Amino acid sequence: MTAEIRFSVESLHKELYIGGAWRPASDRSTLEVLDPATEQPIARVSDASVEDGLAAVAAAQQAQPGWAARPPRERGEVLRRAFELMVLHKEALARLITLENGKALAESRAEVAYAAEFLRWFSEEAVRIQGEISTAPSGSNRIVVIKQPVGVALFVTPWNFPAAMATRKIGPALAAGCAVVLKPAKETPLTALAMAEIFEEAGVPGGVVNVLPSRRSSQLIGALLKDTRIRKLSFTGSTETGRILLEQAARNIVKCSMELGGNAPFIVFDDADLEVAVASAMVAKMRNGGQSCTAANRFYAQRGVAAEFAKRFAGAMREIKMGHGLEDGVQLGPLINAEARSKVSQLVEQAQGGGAKLMAGGKAPNGRGFFYEPTVLFDVAPDMQVMKQEIFGPVAPIAIFDTEDEAIALANSTDLGLVSFVHTSDIGRGLRACERIEAGMVGLNRGLVSDPAAPFGGWKQSGIGREGAHEGMLEYLETKYIAANW
Ligand code: ADP
Repeated sequence: MTAEIRFSVESLHKELYIGGAWRPASDRSTLEVLDPATEQPIARVSDASVEDGLAAVAAAQQAQPGWAARPPRERGEVLRRAFELMVLHKEALARLITLENGKALAESRAEVAYAAEFLRWFSEEAVRIQGEISTAPSGSNRIVVIKQPVGVALFVTPWNFPAAMATRKIGPALAAGCAVVLKPAKETPLTALAMAEIFEEAGVPGGVVNVLPSRRSSQLIGALLKDTRIRKLSFTGSTETGRILLEQAARNIVKCSMELGGNAPFIVFDDADLEVAVASAMVAKMRNGGQSCTAANRFYAQRGVAAEFAKRFAGAMREIKMGHGLEDGVQLGPLINAEARSKVSQLVEQAQGGGAKLMAGGKAPNGRGFFYEPTVLFDVAPDMQVMKQEIFGPVAPIAIFDTEDEAIALANSTDLGLVSFVHTSDIGRGLRACERIEAGMVGLNRGLVSDPAAPFGGWKQSGIGREGAHEGMLEYLETKYIAANW
């Protein structure tokens, strides 16, 4: 097969990938995948039952010791091959992402590159699993500390980055010597199935990666979290669902990594370079059409530059070309579904009702597809819902502040703490703000923080644990201490 027809919707395997084989759901159930830009079905894939889930756990448990016993260099080389295959098939994978998720093709290409980079990064990390050795303070023995794979890991991923959220978990797990069961979001199973094909072709042994699309996620994941063979849960999604899964994981004391919701503040101080601030606001707000947990959710602009910042930002937002993500030049696709769009439009109406000034967009266009216009609201009261809830859409509410202390207090006035953005030309003020902000990540004069080589994760109710960087490996490794005499 040529690179072009690989990973088309038609050529893709659409069954469950369990133990290195493709098979239908035990009860033959299927689920429909829609193109959110046309609201039309594009494919049907198998819909995993609890029985299928248990079969995948059994396959993973059987395969895991053999995989862990492979030399780290070999595990790394398999991951490296998977990286190369993703790069080779970048265009086809990007089209698949656009079809089921709706994002513009340029964004899908960027996601494939980002997703592949996790595999390259962790292919390099596979050979850097290190322990420690010391002499006990009493001198009586040695303290030897080694790191070993945690075992079978269960992954639950969202629809907003269908490739990257999978590789960000599978990369470190495989590098560490774990076997995995992945349940992608029901909205975007095709990319996950394509990833299964990539891992298979890269030489991942059967059972080490299992992929189970399912629309019965609460039933399926609930049952799997009762199974003591699952030793690790990594979830990316909403804080509400994360809370449910943490409760379920508590029964068997399963180790958890949680990447949950965000409510990122974007602060623009009077001394900021406004050209840089607007360019970075566009990235921080509009990456993935605002459907990202790292999206700038609340803009705080200092009084001296607030009106000018809002004017320039609104101008840039009005320039965005919206349409089907596969069309030339399109920068913004639809939201994922009707529910997401009605939530966004309610938040905008409420803010306008509360006195916010509409500077761009503000409505859903007529016709098919879950589109919503790039929208800027100015002079929004900080207690409006649009400043408090995760918008998950192309809407930027801007509030005005006066002092540095006020900006920090506003930024921290939330139970979430994933990422924050700060714009200033004063390096002292910038670093001071970075230190005072309660978040796992800060973008300083920059609208994009995500990087496979950096520790991604949140404070407060935005999550537990880190993904990416060397820290991302540690989530899949258990520590063993050996008290040794020799
Ligand atoms: P989103 O709003 O992004 O869809 P969710 O947290 O609802 O965020 O979904 C993220 C992932 O969690 C998806 O794979 C979804 O199918 C799954 N999910 C949602 N609810 C549950 C649940 N109760 N138990 C297990 N998985 C769930």
